[in-house]
Amino acid sequence: MNKMLCLILLLAVTGHGLASDQPCTDLGGHCQDDHHKCSGSYYSGKCSGSATRRCCTRTAVEHDTGDCSNVKIISRDSWGARRPASISTIHSPVPDFFIHHTEGGACTSFSACISQMKGIQNYHMDDANHHWSDIGYSFLVGEDGKIYEGRGWNRIGAHTQGYNSRGLAASFMGSFMTHSPNSAALNAVKELIQCGISKGKVSHSYALFGHRDVGSTDCPGTALYNVIKTWPRFHAHSPKYGVFFFNFSISDVDQPCIDLGGSCQDDSNPCSGSYYSGKCTGSANRRCCKTIAVEHDTGDCSDVKIISRDSWGARRPGSTSTIYTPVPDFFIHHTDGGYCTSFSACISQMKGIQNYHMVSRNWADIGYSFLVGEDGKIYEGRGWDKVGAHTSGYNSRGLAASFMGNFATRAPNSAALNAVKKLIQCGIRKGKVSSSYALFGHRDVSTTTCPGTALYNVIKTWPRFKAHSP
Ligand SMILES: [Zn+2]
Ligand SMILES: [Zn+2]
Repeated sequence: MNKMLCLILLLAVTGHGLASDQPCTDLGGHCQDDHHKCSGSYYSGKCSGSATRRCCTRTAVEHDTGDCSNVKIISRDSWGARRPASISTIHSPVPDFFIHHTEGGACTSFSACISQMKGIQNYHMDDANHHWSDIGYSFLVGEDGKIYEGRGWNRIGAHTQGYNSRGLAASFMGSFMTHSPNSAALNAVKELIQCGISKGKVSHSYALFGHRDVGSTDCPGTALYNVIKTWPRFHAHSPKYGVFFFNFSISDVDQPCIDLGGSCQDDSNPCSGSYYSGKCTGSANRRCCKTIAVEHDTGDCSDVKIISRDSWGARRPGSTSTIYTPVPDFFIHHTDGGYCTSFSACISQMKGIQNYHMVSRNWADIGYSFLVGEDGKIYEGRGWDKVGAHTSGYNSRGLAASFMGNFATRAPNSAALNAVKKLIQCGIRKGKVSSSYALFGHRDVSTTTCPGTALYNVIKTWPRFKAHSP
């Protein structure tokens, strides 16, 4: 009797009758319009009604498109892709192939990767700044060594502004500024490109680019970029700047910047290379961001290089306050982050630290007065004349240098140590640091292990260490 009542109610609710959606129910799914999100996989031909009414299972099941014999491509239906709002067909074979990173979570399993895929598609389709018709990339790749189908081989994507009609793109899931993807992911993308050639989707005379080659972005991350530089056909031809000009009609008045290989933007934005003044029209904040960074010394100190903010592509601070000089205290920190031993690696650290301090911590600028790399160079933070955000309670009475890396168990190399010693002496000569200054480690005035025990043991031996009490 109860069973009967139940069946009648169900029939009334679905309106279709149980029988027509039974194939979907048998799969453990339910029928819905496929522009909706689905927690598992989508299946066609299991539901009554229109073709867009499809079966969404609760749990995803792995399906290979079968497109490529050497690499698995997880189909859109398999990861539960929503139906695109619209599609445009691309002319193939494409001459260009672009490499990106998602700058989001990394994944090493099918379930973690499809959860990334769903999240990225929702972000690209629903976020107010995007409202794209679909996930942007042609393909994505996880560190499970599988390709995940984005817009696929035949559609124009939204990945590389100015180049979407002439290239396909693969994006590595994760952030690859300081470490490269694992070999499973790298090999999967190499196989994908080869497969694209054999299918006539990618020209055999294609050129490979990183996103940063054609846009003012760090993408696909410095560590990954350094890997793809060694891949076949990297920069096999120049990007077609004609397309670039077409998309930016004001380019002629910004010619001095374009001549530098840059683009004009508001300097509150991150820049993948260096900033230059006087190369762009409009307000003084509209400055030239050159894609590749160029080393410029502030020239402040004769015996140590200080790489200028513009050189490492610093964003404009939200606000600044002037510090009273000469300061009586000098503080030593470590960043507790990545090490760097080259200009390119150190500026990538600088950009990352500034973004972290400004975006995640909501500070006006990168916190430290100066930073130092194991390339033996000082990198200008807030500099000599600004109050920093480095040593709570002491920011108005001290400048600070931070060693890039974690120095709990080993000291920085002598190049970095000597650079900071020279920086302090230079500060005294310039009247920025008192000649009767006292040197402290961050841990001397705060409950922190900073600047790391190994580094702390070194600075203890330096002149004027704790010359007065904090
Ligand atoms: Zn990108
Ligand atoms: Zn510190």
